[in-house]
Amino acid sequence: MPSAGNRLSVKALLILAGCSLLLLGSAARAVETEADATPTRPLVLTTIRPLTLIAGDVAGDWADIRQLLPDGALPHHFSLKMSHRNLIDQADLVIWIGPALESFLVKAIAGRGPGAVITGIAREPLVGSSEPLADEGREPGNNRATLITDPHIWLDPEWGVAIAEEIASWLIQRYPDREASLLASLAALTTEIRIETSALMDEFKQYEGKVFISDHDAFSHFAARFHLESAGSLHDDSGLLRGARGVYSLRQQRGVACVLAEPRYDARRVEELARDLGVRVVTIDPLGSGIARTQGGYSALIGAVAQGFRACFAGKSG
Ligand SMILES: [Zn+2]
Repeated sequence: MPSAGNRLSVKALLILAGCSLLLLGSAARAVETEADATPTRPLVLTTIRPLTLIAGDVAGDWADIRQLLPDGALPHHFSLKMSHRNLIDQADLVIWIGPALESFLVKAIAGRGPGAVITGIAREPLVGSSEPLADEGREPGNNRATLITDPHIWLDPEWGVAIAEEIASWLIQRYPDREASLLASLAALTTEIRIETSALMDEFKQYEGKVFISDHDAFSHFAARFHLESAGSLHDDSGLLRGARGVYSLRQQRGVACVLAEPRYDARRVEELARDLGVRVVTIDPLGSGIARTQGGYSALIGAVAQGFRACFAGKSG
């Protein structure tokens, strides 16, 4: 049974707790007032992880970067929920690849003015990725037409740099006080990517003339940048499975080093084709799911894709 003394001390504690709540309340108000005086962090909404990584490299933790699609989702086939639409409306900046990849986003993007949107595909890199590709006769192959329609542009590291530049310039325009730090991050990303690209170009020279087949047509930009050659894919660049004729023609290819599988697609067709060709299956995730959003995240994504190609070409070819 509690004594009078105990009850008193409980009462005293309650009073003390009330006082600290009051103190906490005024502290919170002080923070709010301070925040009103300085520009708030922009809410930057990206669609897929590669864009999250690029935006993260440019803006670090300063911007509130959120990603619309979960890592496991296929951007080719996605439908927006109400919560997604709200996020698109709230975002200060929406970064997407463009209608060729995220067709589900076209309407929602149209609702935002061009000043609130960066369309990656609209910003071609200054440094061209390739001379006209050899072997235009391959069917269905990695010809220039594929390069133009393939929306997986972030796999060309120079295109990634171009998108990073656009993000930095958008942020600097609206937050001029952040200019120095944004420019420093952009320079760090550009330097890192250029060093990585030139090292990979040297390394991949030995794979010239070797050919790969992919499950879905996601690698033409990477291949063009590093002079690798695709003999075609099981799915076209809009994610649709090729017909029997297309698959038959893939089976006839000679000198194929491997078939690339992807985490989001059923690997059975890939395994079947690889068995027919007598080559290995290598899995590469073009979306870089699970790559941490730390400084250098985009470079890590390019490195992970390069590692897949290394595994494809390094062994004996079929
Ligand atoms: Zn794709």
